[in-house]
Amino acid sequence: MATTGPEDFPARVTVREVGPRDGFQNEPESIPTSDKVRLIDALARTGLTRVEVGSFVRADVIPQLADGAEVLAGIAIPDGVDVAVLVPNQRGWEAALPHKDRFDEVIVFLSASETHNVKNINRPVADSLATVESLLGQVRDAGIRPLASIATSFGCPYEGHVDPKRVYELAGRMAAAGAEEISFGDTTGMANPRQVRTFYEEALERLPGVELTAHFHNTRGSALANALAALEAGVTSFESSFGELGGCPVPPGSTGNIATEDLISMLHEMGVDTGVDLAKLLDASRDVQRVLGRPLGSHVLTAGPVEWADE
Ligand code: ZN
Repeated sequence: MATTGPEDFPARVTVREVGPRDGFQNEPESIPTSDKVRLIDALARTGLTRVEVGSFVRADVIPQLADGAEVLAGIAIPDGVDVAVLVPNQRGWEAALPHKDRFDEVIVFLSASETHNVKNINRPVADSLATVESLLGQVRDAGIRPLASIATSFGCPYEGHVDPKRVYELAGRMAAAGAEEISFGDTTGMANPRQVRTFYEEALERLPGVELTAHFHNTRGSALANALAALEAGVTSFESSFGELGGCPVPPGSTGNIATEDLISMLHEMGVDTGVDLAKLLDASRDVQRVLGRPLGSHVLTAGPVEWADE
């Protein structure tokens, strides 16, 4: 091990791979179902214990994810790996329910910012919250782990600053409705490490008993710094996307989620275990880069893992 971190760093953190949903949904060219299945099967054999594999959203809204049921039917997931699907509304939950033997977690979502929520799902936040609360109860009653995600938790491209108190209040309502885990998304890469550290320190105090997850986008290159700040605040759950896939389509050209291999590499170099085999993860990232036919944003995919000559 090259370095040892502060004594209070966690020995181990959990990483959910979100590329097959959050990443693929922004790809303009249709990705064949067989490629998705192969990539998910590979990701599920890297040591990652959580993978978000798709969404039950209307096919005309996100055609790329229209094959959610086929992907679920095709993948072969080892024991110990939890499969998550995204459900946008009641109709999506009803589409997902017949396949519930094939997933372990359902993610419901809304935006903290009123304008972003309206532009994204065409409803005011209060309406979305009512739907999300209802869905969380239904998911729990079906024996599935209910998760919630709050987009634009650290800033909104339309409204600017988002009051953390509003985010905590939404999270509190979701936790009361049954959310066992809440992910706070820096949807358009506006967060900075100082803000992130303060945000999560307070969130961990305000939301005891709920797993709090960090979801950063690398739009402005701050994602790894933000991940470190979250780690220092006490966060032990992260979401990331292999190859640095994904990102919000607004603003155009923005880069994606923090790359899983960049996050894993940094954590391992700091002595924080993830259980992930970086070499296997890089194989999956090289595969998706080949499928998409363009260079991806991930740094470790380009540079390779750190190699210490004295080890
Ligand atoms: Zn994302």
